[in-house]
Amino acid sequence: MVIQAPPSPVTLHADVEEVLLEADTIAARVAELGAQLSADYEGRNPVLLSVLKGALVFLADLMRTMDVPSSIDLMELSSYGSGTETSGQVRILKDLSHSIEGRDVVIVEDIIDTGLTLNYLMRYLAERHPASVRVCCLLDKPARRLAEIEIDYRGFTIPDRFVVGYGLDYDERYRNLPYIGVLKPSVYSAPPAD
Ligand code: 5GP
Repeated sequence: MVIQAPPSPVTLHADVEEVLLEADTIAARVAELGAQLSADYEGRNPVLLSVLKGALVFLADLMRTMDVPSSIDLMELSSYGSGTETSGQVRILKDLSHSIEGRDVVIVEDIIDTGLTLNYLMRYLAERHPASVRVCCLLDKPARRLAEIEIDYRGFTIPDRFVVGYGLDYDERYRNLPYIGVLKPSVYSAPPAD
């Protein structure tokens, strides 16, 4: 019998070049955003609308820092394949579950890069006659903005680097990192294995 060596452990952290935002820095800022939203939406009942999957961790933390009643809805849009460049084309993979007519909608987004995804989403939502739509994003990457976007609540402005962690992935990995870090370019520029 041939005994094979176990596969080397997956070291997600080793693929991170630099930690941009530590977990406690993120938590503190999320709490500030939650307090701001709670004050602004006092006496109202907003729908927190998140775009899967990257915004999931942010949404889960943000909603627990808010003390106004709210409901959540989830959409899934696709603009990236497995690469790091936006295709500019947006597809709806999962639509709204409930009507937003007459509701105050807060779009809870993980990151705004070119702005094309959000631009598409805003136009799509406007056709469904909400009372209001505001944007709350954790990360703003303005360097490559192509669409004009008004961001009402912004966690952090970051440089033009590809980041992972705290819900953000590369090819479905790294979402579970508790911090936000810059992925080593060698991870996504490596030639495909045979
Ligand atoms: P946009 O349409 O604004 O260019 O892209 C928005 C989406 O692209 C985000 O919701 C996210 O899925 C993805 N994206 C943009 N920049 C990054 C990044 O630095 N890291 C990761 N993981 N995803 C990104």
